[in-house]
Formats: sequence, structure tokens, C-alpha cells
Amino acid sequence: MNLDKLKEALMALHLKNFAEILDETLLKAEREKLSPADILYLLASQEIAARQQRLVKTRILQAGFPTIKTIDAFDFSFPKAINKTQILNLLDLTFVNQKNNVILMGPPGTGKTHLALALGHQACLQGVKTLFTTAINLINHLSASLADNSFLKTIKLFTSPRLLIIDELGYLPVDKQGAELLFQVISNRYECGSIVVTTNRAFRDWGTLLNNDNTLASAMIDRLVHHGVLVQIKGESYRIK
Ligand code: ADP
Ligand code: MG
Repeated sequence: MNLDKLKEALMALHLKNFAEILDETLLKAEREKLSPADILYLLASQEIAARQQRLVKTRILQAGFPTIKTIDAFDFSFPKAINKTQILNLLDLTFVNQKNNVILMGPPGTGKTHLALALGHQACLQGVKTLFTTAINLINHLSASLADNSFLKTIKLFTSPRLLIIDELGYLPVDKQGAELLFQVISNRYECGSIVVTTNRAFRDWGTLLNNDNTLASAMIDRLVHHGVLVQIKGESYRIK
């Protein structure tokens, strides 16, 4: 049997890993007297594992995380108040499968972005298409797209991932157009995909934040909270620890 021909055929079928480990697997098979079915299973399962690894890598790159943060590095004893069980439950990603939302609320430096990144990382490990953005970046991106007629394409960037993380809602005021654009994203994703929002502002301040439009703020909160979990963190900033 000409192995080169087999490898060519495997490459044509995009079974790269399968082709790469063929030689060593055949040697192992001879040594351990594996049956043909065993050999095929070994090759196929390693191909699957390699694909899964490649997918996770791609998901993490696509997500655009500013840094990688994980839950292991989060010290639950630092915040004055935090519901550890609630957060650990979120990490099983049922909320993503159910297209639910998570609102991480608390003062600056209490680990909201850290937790949002940890949820995003966990989602990528499970192969979930994820996108991380800040509220301002999302608004700027969509505003610019209105100017060059690429709005429909651009809004898809924010509506197509199964998980969208919108960080830092509340640090900068949002003008009328910005508030409407943000609302469009949240409303398009409603019951279609999950959102994780981090904010330093209580819901009662969202009207002020969103160009003094209390009606729009209520509608936005309604959509986020209807199928959503509110995670409240209280305490001092970890940055000045
Ligand atoms: P926030 O988004 O609430 O302003 P961050 O998540 O950006 O806060 O946290 C600021 C820094 O402190 C980050 O480097 C983060 O990893 C770290 N940090 C915050 N809270 C904790 C914590 N409880 N345990 C470990 N690191 C934390
Ligand atoms: Mg933050």
C-alpha cells in the first residue's frame, strides 16, 4: 500500500491531523496488534480532538478579548458582597444555550470585566462564537457604518455571535444616536442570542446615561432583564488593593 497516496487522499478530505499521525499510528497498531476498527477509531478520535482545539483557538481570536481572564484567578473573598454560587452556575453556560443575559453591576474595579472575560473564555472553550466589545466601541462602530452605508453588515457583527459581551456601559455618556444604536443591538438579540453587560450604574441611572431618554432606557432594561440574571458586586476596587 502506497501511504503517500493515502495521505494525499486524507488531505483532500481535509483530514490533516489524520494524515499527520498516520505513520505513528500504524506502527503502534503493529506493536499492539490493533484491529482495523481500532486503528480507524484512534485516527478519527484524534482528528476530532485536533479540530476541537483549532476551533477553540479560532473562537478566542475572533472574540477580541483584551486579555485572557479565568475564574481560577478570581478571588471571591475580595469583594464585600458577591454571589459566588450564582457566578459558578453561570459558567456552565446554560444561559447561553437558553439565550439569556447576564448583567454584571458594581463599582469600578470590582472585577466586572474580569468575570465577563472569564464567561467569554469559557464560552470559547465550548466552541461558542463570542464577541467582546465596549459599549462605546459598539456605538462608534455602528455610527461610522451609518456614514459609509455598511450598517447592515456591521450590525450583523454584533447580532450574529451567540454571545456578545458589552463592557463598560456607564462610564461615558451616550448621545441620542448612540442610545438608539445600542437599543437596536439589544433588541435584535432579544431571545435570539445572549448578552453579558458590565455596568457601574444602577438601572435607575440608565435614563440619565442614555441621553435622558427614560422610555428607551426602560425598554432596554426590560429586554435585558426579562431573560436575564443580575449579578451585583459590592466592594472596593481591586486595583487600589
Ligand atoms: P471592573 O471591570 O469592575 O472595573 P476589572 O475586572 O477590570 O474591574 O478589575 C480590575 C483589575 O483587578 C483586573 O486586573 C482584574 O483582573 C482584577 N480583579 C478585580 N477583582 C478581582 C478579584 N476579586 N480577584 C482577582 N482579581 C481581581
Ligand atoms: Mg471594567
